Amino acid sequence: MATRILSNRKNIALVAHDNKKKELIEWAFYNKTTLAKHKLYATGTTGGMLEEALDQPITKFLSGPLGGDQQIGAKIAEGKLDVLIFFWDPMESQPHDPDVKALLRVAATWNIPVACNRATADFLLTSPLMHDKYGVLLPDYTSYTTRKLK
Ligand code: PGA
Repeated sequence: MATRILSNRKNIALVAHDNKKKELIEWAFYNKTTLAKHKLYATGTTGGMLEEALDQPITKFLSGPLGGDQQIGAKIAEGKLDVLIFFWDPMESQPHDPDVKALLRVAATWNIPVACNRATADFLLTSPLMHDKYGVLLPDYTSYTTRKLK
């Protein structure tokens, strides 16, 4: 199976729904030193708050409901993002629910690590693999892309 080599400096995307932003910012601030070793990306509003809390430049996309989730999804499909920290709100539907589903789907499609809550984010960030080179196995979609349609 093909692999994509992740360097020890990971490209991490962070997204939090409004009711989850406080929790993500607290988590990120607590892990400030570790996060400083990586390159961070985020949807617009989350990114602005993270920049203030971490004093670290963040590559910001559009706000989630305005297309930011889809921009992050596109970067995952291009192999440009390595890890997704996505605190989505399980208690409230969002105007961009289809985008939320699409982002989670594309992350699963390309086998990237995803944390949807604080406990998983803790496990992820403290994994030795976060700070080392790692070969992500790329699922083989050849039989799909070369399928013959009548
Ligand atoms: P936001 O987007 O960071 O711009 O609020 C988050 C989201 O995807 O809902």
